[in-house]
Amino acid sequence: MELRAAGKPSDLKGLSLEEIERFIVGHGEPAYRGRQLFHWIYGRGASTFAEMTDLPIALRAKLAEQASIGTIILAAREVSQDGARKYLFSCADGRQIETVLIPDEGRLTVCLSTQVGCALACAFCLTGTMGFVRHLQSGEIVDQVLALQRDLQPGERISNLVLMGMGEPLHNYDATVKALTILAHPLGLAYPPRRIALSTVGLVPEIVRLGQSGLEVNLAVSLHAANDELRNRLVPINRRYPLKELIAALRAYPLPSRRRLTFEYVLIDEVNDRPEDARDLVKLLRGLRCKVNLLPLNEAHAIPFRRSSREHIEAFQHILKSAGIVATIRESRGLDISAACGLLATETDQKRLDTTGRLT
Ligand code: SAH
Repeated sequence: MELRAAGKPSDLKGLSLEEIERFIVGHGEPAYRGRQLFHWIYGRGASTFAEMTDLPIALRAKLAEQASIGTIILAAREVSQDGARKYLFSCADGRQIETVLIPDEGRLTVCLSTQVGCALACAFCLTGTMGFVRHLQSGEIVDQVLALQRDLQPGERISNLVLMGMGEPLHNYDATVKALTILAHPLGLAYPPRRIALSTVGLVPEIVRLGQSGLEVNLAVSLHAANDELRNRLVPINRRYPLKELIAALRAYPLPSRRRLTFEYVLIDEVNDRPEDARDLVKLLRGLRCKVNLLPLNEAHAIPFRRSSREHIEAFQHILKSAGIVATIRESRGLDISAACGLLATETDQKRLDTTGRLT
């Protein structure tokens, strides 16, 4: 565990159960106090030690001196006509991240960011145009869920978590896996792994590691092309991890029973939406337990592509379905507030709010 320099309170938000136990034992307390602390911070969303009423008063006072519970600060909230909500948060260093809440047919899904910006520069994604600013810490990833839980309307309950916001979760592997562990832990936020999905552009070594982690969250892969020439152009990381390697890793991935991999395929007019592209995709996915989400491209000024026509989208879907592949067309939510897939980007030159919510 990283303890901050002497004299400075160490931030407990983001620490795993084992780390919190070690922290508390290091302060001469029994390990079960660590479990209580872990549950207060994540399971009950406590932001102060004072509210932890089943801890001895003396311990609460000691913790208040020697530790802190960091939080991201809500800077703005926008509501789409379709009910999706986009949240802008300021981190302790003033960097900003976006999180989206999507109500959909009885489900309430939170779309989490894992990085400020993104290094992978996919040709059609606005976050990519920001470039990579920094990784989020595990506490900042978890805190997006805690903050949204605080902002729910009566009767609302978050049902699903998807790591599909800003950033590439597997590029920030350690913090992401730690955050997932906390989100899924029964004493933590207690989201069942089958209700959590991680989306990756296809970082092969980290896909293998994730499979070995035993986390059992759902895995989605942003594919967008079924041949290397095209994928190299759309998803530059394909030059490092070409389709053959990616698909081999996915074939070997230890899928829990009754689960399927998800492939995301953004449909771009006259780029990857022709019948032969669909037929290549059928060949590529043969024998994989999977489904395909077709995402009509969300257009933006800085994205040099157009969305496929409805006719082409349906023809593409038809080819997949005829080959026995489950394929759904997924219209993005929150388009009017730029909360939709690929449109999350915090401008680097925008005015920043400091951690107390003041403009600097
Ligand atoms: N880096 C990860 C996590 C981000 S998920 C990944 O790429 O999977 C964001 C999803 O939105 C990805 O499937 C991405 O390909 C998709 N996306 C990006 N730009 C888009 C756009 N302009 N329109 C529709 N979907 C887009």
